[in-house]
Amino acid sequence: MNRRDCLKLAGAAAALPLAPSAARAETAKGPCTVDIGLKRLMLRHTWTTTMSSSAYRDTVQVAYHNDGITGHGEGAPIIRYQEFPTPAMKALQAMSGDIIAGDPWKYQKYLAGIRRELGEGQHAAMAAVDIAIFDWLGKKLDLPLYKFLGLDAADAPITDFSIGIDTPEITREKTREAADFPVLKVKVGLKTDEATIEAVRSVTQKPIRVDANEGWTDKEEAIRKINWLESQGVEYVEQPMPAHMIEETRYVRGKVHLPIIADEACTDITMIPRLVEAYDGINVKLDKAGGILEACRWIEVARAVKLKVMLGCMVSSSCSVTAAAHLSPLVDYADLDGNLLLNNDPWAGVRVDQGKLLLPNGPGLGLKPT
Ligand code: MG
Repeated sequence: MNRRDCLKLAGAAAALPLAPSAARAETAKGPCTVDIGLKRLMLRHTWTTTMSSSAYRDTVQVAYHNDGITGHGEGAPIIRYQEFPTPAMKALQAMSGDIIAGDPWKYQKYLAGIRRELGEGQHAAMAAVDIAIFDWLGKKLDLPLYKFLGLDAADAPITDFSIGIDTPEITREKTREAADFPVLKVKVGLKTDEATIEAVRSVTQKPIRVDANEGWTDKEEAIRKINWLESQGVEYVEQPMPAHMIEETRYVRGKVHLPIIADEACTDITMIPRLVEAYDGINVKLDKAGGILEACRWIEVARAVKLKVMLGCMVSSSCSVTAAAHLSPLVDYADLDGNLLLNNDPWAGVRVDQGKLLLPNGPGLGLKPT
């Protein structure tokens, strides 16, 4: 499938009605049901990266009801990984029977079984189920998720705030809007990179992280840009070159000082040990790993091979972003702002004060409807 076909398919998916589907089973513990649907999230600014430009995103929603308690989960399929909202929803609907038949208390076996049945290529759908189950478990135990995971909320890092690709004028406006955040993440990867950074720097001198989203395909260009970015107060560079250009990225890394973080190059736990050749860290996302359980494993493997760990997110509601925030005490850098880019977030969860992630103390994810 080429890029144009992918875009067509994504467009067709977005046009379908966002009707939830439900499955139901009576168990010894009482009725267990699951609702699976899509939610259209509207962006405050059109969101542009080297990959795509969009005014909204559709995410997959799972509501798992059991014993009178509901766990909520969300997954954000994106075109870069050949995952699309409607197929992801349908894949989960086809699994409804397995979702309601499993025992959430045996979540290691239960979630591994769902993952196996969903198969490859449905990581965001898997994340939606996994998050819903962890939300349910936390609610059932009356524990916030970070406590269930044995973490200290005080260790949650600051999150940066992302500035998508735009004109210098809008970039300045977005930078001013982000005044409360002590660190910015700026999307680069185009011919206009210098103008973008200069626009940010005309407003603020605060630290910047950049994400090229695979945008630089020439290694000498990448070296020149990264060394210039170092002079502009940039802390690290995410995915400078295409994911498959490991050898070129290794060469670039040998010629620059800034840490290089793998995002698109890190889509499976088995890749992590090999990435040490070319990268200093990885960007873990629930939608890439397939949820909380697998993201924790990614973090452990990255630590074992001495990689830095960044925790990122897709454009998602506070459901998915709060789930990731509960893991944030485990990581070095957080980029958890996908919910802050929306104007119709259905949930309130993690809050941000001067960039610091404040984890909710309610049970499970600690979400409240807005
Ligand atoms: Mg990235």
